[in-house]
Amino acid sequence: MDEIAAGVFVATADLYTTTTTVVAGDDGGCLLVDPAVTVAELAALAGWLSERGLRPVAGWSTHPHWDHLLWSAAFGSAPRYATPRAVAVAARELSGLVSGVREEAPGHDLTLFARVEPLLGREIDWAGPRAVVYAHDAHAPGHGAVLLPEAGVLIAGDMLSDIEIPLLDLAAPDPFDGYRRGLELLASLPGVRRVVPGHGHVGDQAEFRRRVAADRAYLDATEAGADVADERLSADWLRAEHARHLQRRPRR
Ligand SMILES: [Zn+2]
Repeated sequence: MDEIAAGVFVATADLYTTTTTVVAGDDGGCLLVDPAVTVAELAALAGWLSERGLRPVAGWSTHPHWDHLLWSAAFGSAPRYATPRAVAVAARELSGLVSGVREEAPGHDLTLFARVEPLLGREIDWAGPRAVVYAHDAHAPGHGAVLLPEAGVLIAGDMLSDIEIPLLDLAAPDPFDGYRRGLELLASLPGVRRVVPGHGHVGDQAEFRRRVAADRAYLDATEAGADVADERLSADWLRAEHARHLQRRPRR
């Protein structure tokens, strides 16, 4: 568990280098974002929280993919929020999401899986530092990044990774355009001093800018059908995703 800013902690799971973010709030409460990913990792996280005297008072799921909708009874029964669109998609696609958990991280209490409720305002309502949600439809519908303005931390969900290329939502009508809108929304946020990707490593302000530029370059080259020189295109599964992106590029 790394303290990346005062009161903001990031744990990194073995599976897919998945991150979990904990934001300390008032009176021992904490905001728990995307707790992941295996049963053992959630148990270890719960143990760390209780050692620290922290108890989740709110949860946030950045987007409706199975590895961002997990929970454990050991975290208690705090309300868990996502954007209204993400909540609707999670409900609609629940059976497929459950299959994802069963295949990739078996053993979770599925009665607690994806129990998210829609956040109606722009900020997570909790007793702690301001947590402002920025919703967009890049990578997944109703993707909600969280900016902690005081700490300058952007919890980006599955965006701005140093190890994964932009992963488009191929079910969207125009995946490239949707991704660009989300990316530019995040790029426009002021005061980002730390970026936390859903998979990968925490970056500083310069790294945030570098990743925005790398993602723009990836989208530009892929959409144009040009050669893509992206150091993140190393794993087989990412090359396969890249091939799918090429097939979906708009014929303008
Ligand atoms: Zn995802």
